[in-house]
Amino acid sequence: MTGELGNGYDVVVVGGGAAGLNGALVLARSRRSVVVLDAGAPRNAPAAGVHGLLAREGMRPGELLERGRAEVRSYGGQVVDGEVATVARDGDGFTVGLADGRSTRARRLLVTTGLVDELPDVPGLRERWGRDVLHCPYCHGWEVRDRAIGVLANGPMAVHQALLFRQLSPDVTLFAHTHPAPAGEQAEQLAALGIPVVTGEVASLVVDGDRVTGVRLADGTVVAREAVAVQSRMVARAGFLAGLGLDPLPHPSGMGEHLPADPTGRTAVPGVWVAGNVTDLSAQVGAAAAAGATAGAQVNYDLVVEDTARAVAAAREPVEV
Ligand SMILES: Cc1cc2nc3c(=O)[nH]c(=O)nc-3n(C[C@H](O)[C@H](O)[C@H](O)COP(=O)(O)OP(=O)(O)OC[C@H]3O[C@@H](n4cnc5c(N)ncnc54)[C@H](O)[C@@H]3O)c2cc1C
Repeated sequence: MTGELGNGYDVVVVGGGAAGLNGALVLARSRRSVVVLDAGAPRNAPAAGVHGLLAREGMRPGELLERGRAEVRSYGGQVVDGEVATVARDGDGFTVGLADGRSTRARRLLVTTGLVDELPDVPGLRERWGRDVLHCPYCHGWEVRDRAIGVLANGPMAVHQALLFRQLSPDVTLFAHTHPAPAGEQAEQLAALGIPVVTGEVASLVVDGDRVTGVRLADGTVVAREAVAVQSRMVARAGFLAGLGLDPLPHPSGMGEHLPADPTGRTAVPGVWVAGNVTDLSAQVGAAAAAGATAGAQVNYDLVVEDTARAVAAAREPVEV
């Protein structure tokens, strides 16, 4: 639903996933004027259910967010469909510009825009992403337990990922793809757990009747598999913050780019907080929601400090008689 965008708010939340909606919920319950601007493309949209989330286990991702939107609105917060294209400093606040030409003002910004999963350029991966192409053993590992799983090496975490999926199935194969076959301690670990390594570049996935059935190598060999795990390169969605000098930086893990922040979500740019996958690449839904709630409370406190200082200054003004 598209709401009417107002001229200005205490807080504009950019991004209406788990992080943004929980931040907005805390802010709305603190009687802050708050709007969530959301482009409507949460990261887990292709998945059938949200897993590993207490009391909401298996719920459709869309239903979780619909409930969150309703909760924010029930306390007077707004949720408006739209994509933020620019943010500029405007006095002691910000002007937020949308791609469709609308704009509004904010005293504070909470950025919860998540990340983009960049996948290796292997035909079939993108099409099957979130179904039988997986990245996270905690999100959908249980759903592929005991199945024939291939792990496609795509960076430094490939062996780690293979070990995690081996906990869920005895039939895991590591495809080295364009990387050298693991050596030393890693090779020993794989061998001890019975994880074969297939060398040679992967050309495509084999898909039959809406199911992955195998991995095809460049030499034509097909290795039968029912699911493929791959580590995406995770890149924070933050291009619209360039005007504030807030650019994504390489994550220390080597797994992508994020917006750094302190544990409360405060960034180096005064007035801008971040939460969820945009800063914490490995946050699942529960962690993203919790970080949004923490940041929302911190933003509220920052505004309380400012409002109190203003009230004190006003109280000190000599009263004209
Ligand atoms: C396939 C898949 C399955 C997953 N399954 C699970 C699972 O089972 N359990 C689990 O806990 N985690 C799961 N995850 C991880 C989960 O997706 C993330 O933890 C979660 O989405 C992070 O929430 P977030 O609010 O940070 O970002 P998101 O949920 O990605 O929300 C960000 C929102 O911001 C919006 N946005 C982006 N840019 C702009 C802009 N410029 N202007 C306005 N809005 C913008 C986006 O459209 C989106 O709606 C899965 C991930 C994937 C990829």
